[in-house]
Amino acid sequence: MTETTFDVVIIGAGPGGYVTAIRAAQLGFKTAIIEANHLGGICLNWGCIPTKALLRSAEILDYMHHADKFGLKAEKVGFELAKIVERSRQVASQLSKGVEHLLKKNKVTVYNGYGKLKGKQGDLHKIEIARESKAEEMLLAKNVIIATGARARTLPNLQPDGENIWTYREAMVPEKMPKSLLVIGSGAIGIEFASFYCSLGAEVTVVEVVDRILPAEDEEISLMAKKMLENRGIKFHLATTVTSVTQTSQGLKAILESDGKRTELPIEKAILSVGIVGNIENLGLENSKVKIENSHIVVNEWAETSEPGIYAIGDVAGAPWLAHKASHEGILAIEKIAGHKDIYPMRRENIPGCTYSTPQIASIGLTEKKAKEQGYELKVGRFPFIGNGKAIALGDPEGLIKTIFDAKTGELLGAHMIGAEVTELIQGYAIAKTCEATEAELMSTIFPHPTLSEMMHESPLAAFGRGLHY
Ligand SMILES: Cc1cc2nc3c(=O)[nH]c(=O)nc-3n(C[C@H](O)[C@H](O)[C@H](O)COP(=O)(O)OP(=O)(O)OC[C@H]3O[C@@H](n4cnc5c(N)ncnc54)[C@H](O)[C@@H]3O)c2cc1C
Repeated sequence: MTETTFDVVIIGAGPGGYVTAIRAAQLGFKTAIIEANHLGGICLNWGCIPTKALLRSAEILDYMHHADKFGLKAEKVGFELAKIVERSRQVASQLSKGVEHLLKKNKVTVYNGYGKLKGKQGDLHKIEIARESKAEEMLLAKNVIIATGARARTLPNLQPDGENIWTYREAMVPEKMPKSLLVIGSGAIGIEFASFYCSLGAEVTVVEVVDRILPAEDEEISLMAKKMLENRGIKFHLATTVTSVTQTSQGLKAILESDGKRTELPIEKAILSVGIVGNIENLGLENSKVKIENSHIVVNEWAETSEPGIYAIGDVAGAPWLAHKASHEGILAIEKIAGHKDIYPMRRENIPGCTYSTPQIASIGLTEKKAKEQGYELKVGRFPFIGNGKAIALGDPEGLIKTIFDAKTGELLGAHMIGAEVTELIQGYAIAKTCEATEAELMSTIFPHPTLSEMMHESPLAAFGRGLHY
């Protein structure tokens, strides 16, 4: 077996791993990355990107259905499912090839295969690369970054079968449009699929175990999202569990249970979107001091595990399970390894989160409830889309921008948005939070007119009793 020594070996080439590899190479480290499947990981191949391509088709279809609202004519509006899926797959493949090019350009050595820790040789970690279960190569490195991601969580009574009970994988490449669909779980992934299939004409029912949808979002935004999605035709069962999904002679049947009451729901397909579990198996972690908690590797704010020289980033290192968190964590880890002094540890409250459904939802920082629980005295601003000229011109006058400030210091604690293009807008508040902006900076910033971003000005103004347009 050949043995090659690197400064850094990264296991997994998702947005955590490949971005870290590029930064490691830029910093002058001799870098290798091991990938078992596709470069770009779940995000580029089976997550963020292909879903956004699907949702774009759905969004255009929705606009076409409402063409007359804009003085336009669109006759015989329809779609070809196979072409929508083909476009989504093509977009994913284009980006995966882009990652290959970037790694090559940065002189990162790419190994295909499964990476596994094999203990230490002197002060170097040993990493075996296996192909088709056969150990073929050994790498040695002072630093190892585990970026193996995660996979869909399943429930003991609800096992995906690829046929009737789907995970996101099957939901992303449907061969036929189901007439009715049950979405189990109302996090970002569940709501995005609910939105997509609703736009394409399926009868969609979402079941959520807690008493509101998008449970990580601010309560007010959850409520608005539910109302807006209901207006599109999506049905919700809250504080409800799905106890079984079974095949009967009349088709698929789901049993829902709420408050001791059972309801039967005939459905054609179900999507299980109840969270994820980290890919921690067969990594040789037993050969190290790395600690595991709830299927995730335990790390500190620099992505360090309990084993010196071993780092973990991205989905395998715990929530929030977002691509940009994975990339940022990786850059922090590698810059820490390089001895950089001007870096800041991970601040989870500064990680924005987005849901790309219609309507879009985006947020950063504390919800109103959490801010109150932490003892802050608050100033809360709200600005509805109906007060914004651009939103009305776009034909998207429904939505809200809510901002939460510490009444004592004026610090922006959280921002919560729902409506057109908010997934693009949220970045403005992410910069504000990174710079620890207060209401004073936000109020004295000049926003271009007419833009949706003007609402990001009005919301802080409203929080401090200075609202202009509502
Ligand atoms: C349907 C869906 C939609 C999503 N949409 C968004 C979104 O809009 N925005 C967002 O921020 N996030 C989104 N996510 C989440 C996002 O995809 C993940 O947070 C992100 O991919 C995590 O990156 P990662 O690098 O940690 O892991 P991954 O992207 O999962 O990459 C891990 C890689 O490691 C490889 N690997 C695993 N074990 C080994 C091993 N032993 N050896 C070698 N290679 C290995 C895997 O093959 C994989 O390629 C979505 C997820 C899903 C499922």
